Amino acid sequence: MRAPHDQHFLVDAGAVEKISGYADVSGRTVLEIGPGKGILTEALLSRGAKVIAVELDGKLVSYLEKSFFREVKSGDLTIVHGDAIRCEIPDFDLVVANLPYSASSKITFRLIGMGFEEAVLMYQKEFAMKMMALPGTSECGRLSIMVQTYAKVMPLLELLPSSFSPKPKVKSYVVRLTLKDELTYPINNIELYAVIVRELFSHRRKTIRKAVNISENNIGREESERILSGVSEDILRKRPQELTLKEFADLSNTASG
Ligand code: SAM
Repeated sequence: MRAPHDQHFLVDAGAVEKISGYADVSGRTVLEIGPGKGILTEALLSRGAKVIAVELDGKLVSYLEKSFFREVKSGDLTIVHGDAIRCEIPDFDLVVANLPYSASSKITFRLIGMGFEEAVLMYQKEFAMKMMALPGTSECGRLSIMVQTYAKVMPLLELLPSSFSPKPKVKSYVVRLTLKDELTYPINNIELYAVIVRELFSHRRKTIRKAVNISENNIGREESERILSGVSEDILRKRPQELTLKEFADLSNTASG
């Protein structure tokens, strides 16, 4: 197992209190990814949650097993030693976590795929801002579109490096993620949608027409032709960050035929 990174531990009691209080965790099963030394784990348990804590670092797992042996014995805490990107995770209702920043994207999309009632997640501030960037603005990117297709993202709290030990170089940001019951704009083929969004944003300075031409091999020949002949000239002249969620959905549905 590779050596884990991202070990900046929360030391700000006020922040721990706020983060553990954003979701109503009492009596619920809460998934915590990257519990570290357990500062958030303890707060969640004291609010009456049952916690599943997934930690990659074996030394921290041993530390947690010793510190929380009563809670592990009573079944209130389940510690999973594994990589949250791929390990098996027991069923849960909510997620509350200070995520490892280098795996934020993969873990977020895994969680979206697994489903949850609500997630309170801490990210590097820049990443959180990208998740929340509105379609049609210059900050909007692949992450913004892919997250906002499936979830609503609400800002909750900014944290300075001084809230952690050791201090990270960057600010952090806590957001609330709730999954949409139904997609705002229906998508016929979600795999193709993901490919199109990825390909268009990998050429974000190009117009949609140019980006589709360049990416024909990845999007598919017939799919690309359907976009170029079926999508309005107005859209083909735009750049990906200028499209709305609806326009991405329409474009992908045109491509799937
Ligand atoms: N929650 C703790 C806190 O706030 O003090 C620690 C947060 S620290 C930013 C991230 C934690 O995630 C570390 O304990 C690290 O070992 C763990 N980690 C890193 N990559 C991981 C992965 N892929 N799966 C599970 N845990 C991981």
